[in-house]
Amino acid sequence: MTGPLTLVGRESQALELDTNDPLPTRRDEFHLPPHAGGTAAYFAGNSLGLQPKALRARLGEELDDWARLGVEGHLEARRPWLPYHELAREPAARLVGALPREVVVMNSLTVNLHLLMVSFYRPTPDRHRIVIEDSAFPSDSYAVRSQAAFHGYDPDEAVVRLAPRPGEAALRSEDVVACLAEQGAGVALVLLGAVNYYSGELLDVAAISAAAHAAGAVAGWDLAHAAGNVELRLHDAGADWAAWCSYKYLNAGPGSLAGAFVHERHLADRSLPKLAGWWSTDPASRFQMAPTVTPVDSADSWQLSNPPILALAPVLLSLEMFDQTGLPALRAKSVRLTAYLESLLDEVCASRSVEIITPREPERRGAQLSVRVHGHDVGPLTERLRHDHGVLADARRPDVIRLAPAPLYCTFHDCWRAAGALAAVLDA
Ligand SMILES: *Cc1c(COP(=O)(O)O)cnc(C)c1O
Repeated sequence: MTGPLTLVGRESQALELDTNDPLPTRRDEFHLPPHAGGTAAYFAGNSLGLQPKALRARLGEELDDWARLGVEGHLEARRPWLPYHELAREPAARLVGALPREVVVMNSLTVNLHLLMVSFYRPTPDRHRIVIEDSAFPSDSYAVRSQAAFHGYDPDEAVVRLAPRPGEAALRSEDVVACLAEQGAGVALVLLGAVNYYSGELLDVAAISAAAHAAGAVAGWDLAHAAGNVELRLHDAGADWAAWCSYKYLNAGPGSLAGAFVHERHLADRSLPKLAGWWSTDPASRFQMAPTVTPVDSADSWQLSNPPILALAPVLLSLEMFDQTGLPALRAKSVRLTAYLESLLDEVCASRSVEIITPREPERRGAQLSVRVHGHDVGPLTERLRHDHGVLADARRPDVIRLAPAPLYCTFHDCWRAAGALAAVLDA
């Protein structure tokens, strides 16, 4: 028998998997939305991660220091504000596999994409194309189109969108590599999501970066859905630059500050054009109020403004939590959870018009399964998942539901709930 009836008998199995998993859930450290006297099963952490319970007190410390010290908090706060962003440097570097001086936490993601493209999109008439995924997140698409237009090129001609093979829903890294080898001559910049927001596919950062370089292009990466989700080795992979937000898998709160990476090989390159502000200059002489920037050979030189401390505090807390568990253990659990959810969804799909469009190989995906639902509007479906079953998932109209079993707080039992709920709303 397939469908929810078999799933009903599986609850004890899910609970057992939770009890016996080598990495205990940290669910109790997060606020879960309430549902029907209990809590929701939260599968939307790839859109907005949950709030760590420790955050309120942490923000309170910054507010207290501001109340107590006023401007002197820049030097005397328990975490002095002037060098505050330094606290994020090492944990952020560990998170993305970078050297500490290759990373900085600043701005928001799309702003960082633009600031980095100021330096790393230097088009010429012969080489001005930008390669993105056809399923790129709209902000990335708008950003690259506006960059091409800013430099005087026609975005429709300059921006090349890579589509999957006919009949497939996800790109393949080897196809991206082959395409760059064949048609890379006019390409100035490759900007791809390491994990695609829509299909959940994980691309081979090292292979594609190498292919971009072989074609004479720069390799930039959007890590919005990769940071805190999969293990990254940006430095060793040879990526030129990258940016990521910290409100998805990183749980640092709506619109929280983003990260940026610039590979070591570019850090001392004084010929790169950059937009500058007082936080671009060497902190040793910042308050000499000189009219010109004294460059620093680190990612900090892409900073413009003094950082918003109340927005950095949640990022620090988040990075601490990731350091406590460690990404290798977290990723291993994510692989187990995602495979379990997949096995249950396969049963749901077997007798209904739904299919998983995320790649089946664990090494080709992160903590996400995207399900294509034929013949239903996914908007009302996800509303019913939420209201009737307390399962929060994300609808991508017209026909895709995304489920992200974020391993810090999602459990095997949540996966069981989600699969059963999906079967129930499809059958209703
Ligand atoms: C979430 C996301 C964004 C969001 O951009 P913001 O500048 O943080 O608003 C951009 N790009 C991708 C790929 C994303 O997944």
